Amino acid sequence: MQYKSVLKFGGTSVGDVQRLQAVARLVSRDAEPKVVVLSAMSGTTNLLVEIARCLYRGERQQALDIIQNMEINYLIINSELFASREFTLAGKEFLQTIFTYIRSFVNREMYPLQEKSILAQGEIISSTLMHLYLSDIGVGSTLVPALNYMRVDKDGEPDYFYIKQNLHRLLEAPENHPLIITQGFICRNALGEVDNLHRGGSDYSAALIGGAIDAREVQIWTDIDGIHNNDPRHVAGTRALRTLSFDEAAELAYFGAKILHPSTIQPAKRANIPVRLKNTLNPADEGTLISKESPARDFKAVAAKDGITAVKIKSSNMLLAYGFVRKVFEVFEAWKTPIDMIATSEVAISLTIDDTGRLEGILRDLEKYGTTEVEHDLSIICVVGDFRAEHPGVVARPLRALREIPLRMVSYGASEHSVSLLVRQEDKQRALVALSAELFTDEL
Ligand code: ASP
Ligand code: MG
Repeated sequence: MQYKSVLKFGGTSVGDVQRLQAVARLVSRDAEPKVVVLSAMSGTTNLLVEIARCLYRGERQQALDIIQNMEINYLIINSELFASREFTLAGKEFLQTIFTYIRSFVNREMYPLQEKSILAQGEIISSTLMHLYLSDIGVGSTLVPALNYMRVDKDGEPDYFYIKQNLHRLLEAPENHPLIITQGFICRNALGEVDNLHRGGSDYSAALIGGAIDAREVQIWTDIDGIHNNDPRHVAGTRALRTLSFDEAAELAYFGAKILHPSTIQPAKRANIPVRLKNTLNPADEGTLISKESPARDFKAVAAKDGITAVKIKSSNMLLAYGFVRKVFEVFEAWKTPIDMIATSEVAISLTIDDTGRLEGILRDLEKYGTTEVEHDLSIICVVGDFRAEHPGVVARPLRALREIPLRMVSYGASEHSVSLLVRQEDKQRALVALSAELFTDEL
């Protein structure tokens, strides 16, 4: 069978019995072959992380209490989910096996490998319950375990060749139903051990699957009508975008548009597979389509990322001698800390990081080259639009919108479709509102 579409449902979309049942209806309304990728039910992965954390600290009783509560809650879900006695029993037996397995870690020493095996159970539970529920309502589906095809290499990067080979083999099995159910997030590593694609990684799984099967479209189903032109948590009257290019979406996802995991775009772009963001609560809405091309517009969207720290290094020479920039960057490289924004002048470099775990060491090493200043609690605001040099004047408008707000840094020219602005976190909300008022009000 040819599977050409991938539909991924996030944690809240499968967050309770009604939502699970709604997803089952949605994926079985037509007979088109499809691969359905599921996250764990919302809250589950956090609890599994908590269990592992307790076990690292030797807090066995706390771990057992969390496991007990989870099991009770899942058994309640199980009793409400199924109509028939047969499937209620099958679900119950399955859940008991899973929770017995999770309990088996309580009296053992904890290692990252065990932690990952515990974390993997959330997606295994949601996908198995979905598969059983579909059978219960008379819809055939095939459960294809992600651990049999999803894999990262020794650098933690997707093993594209392995994924493609194995997924094809599994999807070609003659006994398959048109409806495939699989897990997001979980995978194996280069050693074949259970691993995962990091928190929120189910979107990434869906894009990798889409790439491997050359899907027509990858749909990411959440609770909002696609990507909005500003952050709906901070700004009233935001609108969903109809289209975005891969590059524009990648920047928005990286700079805080919470709806999509930032890594997702890369495999989709690599294989040129459109990604559509859809709303489970409003399935008729077309959502946001992310693809190779999207019609240019002066301004498309704004997103912000908090928790940014700026570091300024003033050269001890009067001018930046050659080699200075390299030395500064090498310090950040040695401490494995990525840099987001950069600005340079004749005598100084300012840059931003969001991981301050190694800041002390970085500052110590930088002292050799000049004096340093640090400022915490900043936000990067990313404005996505048409910022090509041949399209003059566009950059003036976000700057005008922010004329009353202290700007720490501005980055223009590195990207043709975005400008980044650094403000204090306390000014962020005001800045986002001002940007929407200046850039998006004349658009309707
Ligand atoms: N369940 C995982 C998490 O909560 C993966 C995902 O939801 O995308 O991070
Ligand atoms: Mg999620």
